[in-house]
Amino acid sequence: ADPITLVGGGLAGSEAAWQLASRGVAVRLFEMRPRATTPAHTTDLLGELVCSNSLGADQTTSPAGILKGELETLGSLILACARRHRVPAGRALAVDRERFAREVTRTLEEHPLVEVVREEVTALPEGPAILASGPLTSPSLAEALRNLVGEDFLAFHDAVAPIVTLESVDPERSYRGSRYGQGEDYVNCPLDEPTYRAFRQALVEAVQAPRHDFEVKQRFFEGCLPIEEIARRGEDTLRFGPMRPVGLPDPSGREPFAVVQLRQDNEEGTLYNLVGFQTNLLWGEQDRIFRLIPALERAEFVRKGVMHRNLFVCAPRVLDGFLRPRGREDLFLAGQVTGVEGYLESTAMGAAAALFLLARLRGEELPVFPRKTALGSLLHYLKDARPETFQPMNVNLGIFPKLERKIKSRTERCEAYGVRSAEALEGFLADHPWCRGSS
Ligand code: FAD
Repeated sequence: ADPITLVGGGLAGSEAAWQLASRGVAVRLFEMRPRATTPAHTTDLLGELVCSNSLGADQTTSPAGILKGELETLGSLILACARRHRVPAGRALAVDRERFAREVTRTLEEHPLVEVVREEVTALPEGPAILASGPLTSPSLAEALRNLVGEDFLAFHDAVAPIVTLESVDPERSYRGSRYGQGEDYVNCPLDEPTYRAFRQALVEAVQAPRHDFEVKQRFFEGCLPIEEIARRGEDTLRFGPMRPVGLPDPSGREPFAVVQLRQDNEEGTLYNLVGFQTNLLWGEQDRIFRLIPALERAEFVRKGVMHRNLFVCAPRVLDGFLRPRGREDLFLAGQVTGVEGYLESTAMGAAAALFLLARLRGEELPVFPRKTALGSLLHYLKDARPETFQPMNVNLGIFPKLERKIKSRTERCEAYGVRSAEALEGFLADHPWCRGSS
């Protein structure tokens, strides 16, 4: 049989190539580096980590840990290499990025069923194929994808605001209401004058994420400034901008000095984003500073704010639940372009795309990952999120179906999610034994 075409040798593409080849399917993996490159990659290695060297939390009592466990059961190459080249990083799985990517590259280049072709792909591949060209997909291929999915459904985002779980927002120190009494949609987090001043000062003094050259060169759009940049422009610029309290009286009828508005982010109403709070602050700084907002003192940030170019499709409109653009039965998207965010999540969408494609080759129905697994929850988010406000998503507890019983402690709650997802995955593997992997 002809080899399967795979575009992009990043995290998702490398994982997908391995998932297929290790199950006996020949693949031709196109990677444009080093002939052409992206603004963030610096090597010609497959599986290069473009920024941080961490694949996130590793305890089984964390959403990222649960997803790692699932990927390992499926035989993930990325996780196997990460474990072999792990560096100390507390509870996170961080790696020596160079050794890690070298091993991913060597494993694939030496695999008898993998052919690595160093060429830029400029049109959508024909026939059974996986597209994993990432958030920095080259312009001609991005154009081809736009033509397929439709102008409005391909997003380039430079800025994303953080997201919190609603249950971690203090109801005593927040109140519902839309501006000028137009409904109850927003959760408003008020600040009095001293708290506002301290918050602004902290923003001005905060440490920013190191930027890539291309991002430093890129001028900010005025309508989409990072919150720390707005703070820097004057004492009250925030209060006249994203923290404007006008028309948002608290339950006593008075307008607070300043307000942070939270907007619903998923259908279930468990996740809310901080309106207008796109930011370039280091993730640790975001935790520290945004918790100065009284209602968010104990907030759980399930996604941090970021500012970098990011191409993705509006998955709930464009994809069919099996990562295929509607109307293309044999083309699977993988990685960050599907609308997930993060190294681990992109890897997961590489594994899922490969298993879907494999089922198709075997002439079987495409497998439905149980909703109770992390993988199933991510796929569910891509299918069922609100298209109007769709944003790429990390794995987090808010996307899992709620537990059957209430558990107060976060660790115990997470443990319960982990146990439930492991059971669900075992049930799934009993029906789909070929999905169990080895790496
Ligand atoms: P990539 O890993 O980018 O792989 C895509 C591959 O496709 C690349 O190798 C590229 O060269 C190749 N390619 C592109 N176009 C073509 C073409 N036309 N033909 C052939 N090959 C092509 N996530 C985190 O968890 N932590 C972080 O710190 C982090 N930092 C990020 C920083 C930046 C600047 C960006 C853009 C993203 C960051 N992300 C981060 C988000 C995301 O997790 C990574 O981008 C991740 O690498 C995405 O995996 P992927 O496989 O989808 O894409």
